Amino acid sequence: MTHVRQQRGLNAIKAYVPGKPIDEVQREYGLKDVIKLASNENPLGASPKALAAMKKSLSRINSYPDGQSHNLLEALAEHLRIRPEQLTVGNGADGLIMQTCLAYLDEESEVIVSQSSFPVYDIYTHVMRAALTKIPLRNLSLDLEAMLQAISDKTKLIFVCNPNNPTGTIVTAAEVGAFMNKVPKHVLVIYDEAYYELVDSPDYPDSLRYIREGYTNTMIMRTFSKIYGLAGIRLGYAIAEPEILAPLNRVKEPFSVNLLAQAAGVAALKDKAFLEKTVATNHAGRIYLYGEFERLRLPYVKSHTNFVLVKIGPQATAVQEMLLKKGVIVRPCTGYDLPLFLRITVGSKTQNVRFIEALESTLQDLERLHSD
Ligand SMILES: *Cc1c(COP(=O)(O)O)cnc(C)c1O
Repeated sequence: MTHVRQQRGLNAIKAYVPGKPIDEVQREYGLKDVIKLASNENPLGASPKALAAMKKSLSRINSYPDGQSHNLLEALAEHLRIRPEQLTVGNGADGLIMQTCLAYLDEESEVIVSQSSFPVYDIYTHVMRAALTKIPLRNLSLDLEAMLQAISDKTKLIFVCNPNNPTGTIVTAAEVGAFMNKVPKHVLVIYDEAYYELVDSPDYPDSLRYIREGYTNTMIMRTFSKIYGLAGIRLGYAIAEPEILAPLNRVKEPFSVNLLAQAAGVAALKDKAFLEKTVATNHAGRIYLYGEFERLRLPYVKSHTNFVLVKIGPQATAVQEMLLKKGVIVRPCTGYDLPLFLRITVGSKTQNVRFIEALESTLQDLERLHSD
């Protein structure tokens, strides 16, 4: 086995590094016009229906929210055509990842994740002093077969980020089917589908099927942060059989989903127009970026999300810093063990063009430096 067994506990935690905030870059570099393509946020803003619902709820902000999020659970259940008992909501998918780790892990536990995947799984595994096993990517995709091989009696959780952040790749329905046939009952598989609504592939698994068929070792996580443009309100949900969700509900903060978030969630689900516009904008943006990367002879990974991983080479860090000075924030991938790459969030048309112009001139500057 080629997997890496890491240090354990709080000392093993690498702090989550968020995308640099726009105003920080404005201050540091004395720039006015800064764009951020580093956190996979929605370039169209937030769902207008969600915004209106939040405005309406503001006058009730003196009261505690519904600790059970009753209306939101009902709305989600109807939207997904499952029972409300098969759902729980949290302070972002991040909050639900934390709750899952609190509920299911102790010092004896093992957790399996992929290398170059979402770092929040690692953080809460370490918080619980559990052992973390990281499986290398295969062709920049999650290697479900190797993840299966790594299972032991102590394995409690496997996080399958699908599509995977930061590579944008998916594991297919066939791969997931073969995997689910072999995963033992004592292992809970969590499918993190933060980009679910953006996937347009006939090969993408219908993971809800496993919930409908009564699998008790499957959980799905999704979020309102990306497609609905609500990253700032912090709202995510988990889908699983009620007995699997019960431990998560036991460890939850009493009011983990705030009053505005509950109102926003109910309204956002009805905002089909915004969802469709986001999907279309993202699709057009992706095609544009692919074309430009090809023109610039930069290898990239075809993405099922609202970001694209592009291979810059050994100069990736230098390029990212030079882009910052030009007011364009993108995501370095050193923390994801992909130091030769940058992760670019698909922005609006104007933002994408601005990014490509900045990238092209940066690459030209570097070439000139090297030929001098
Ligand atoms: C953005 C993201 C999340 C976090 O979602 P929140 O609901 O904002 O906490 C979870 N998983 C992946 C893979 C993500 O990219």
